[in-house]
Amino acid sequence: MKVELLPALTDNYMYLLIDEDTKEAAIVDPVEPQKVVDAVKKHGVKLKTVLTTHHHWDHAGGNEKLVKLMPGLTVYGGDDRVGALTQKVTHYNTFKVGSLNVKCLSTPCHTRGHICYFVTKENSTEPPAVFTGKTYLTYDEVF
Ligand SMILES: [Zn+2]
Repeated sequence: MKVELLPALTDNYMYLLIDEDTKEAAIVDPVEPQKVVDAVKKHGVKLKTVLTTHHHWDHAGGNEKLVKLMPGLTVYGGDDRVGALTQKVTHYNTFKVGSLNVKCLSTPCHTRGHICYFVTKENSTEPPAVFTGKTYLTYDEVF
């Protein structure tokens, strides 16, 4: 898997997660949709998925615009207040981005519906990635 950091606003990041096997991609907290569209073009990937960590505007505020720019996206989040939400998730729900496995971890600290996304690749020695939004976890706490 490949993860590209896209700086957003003044002190945030969006993360473009790419499955190199299928060229499918997910974006984490796309608060600046146009930058996401540009990055998707640059990498030549198929963006299918939005991973929303929590509903605050500085993380989820770009969801509505992004689904207009790129119709057909599945928008995941753990809170009904997440913009353009299509798939509500809860603790330990799993789904795929291409060949990558994504596991949702409920972390109701910063907001009630905060979700961290734990991403692994099966039968691979690649290290996993976890997208934590505004929750601060150490690697050990994930298990
Ligand atoms: Zn927040």
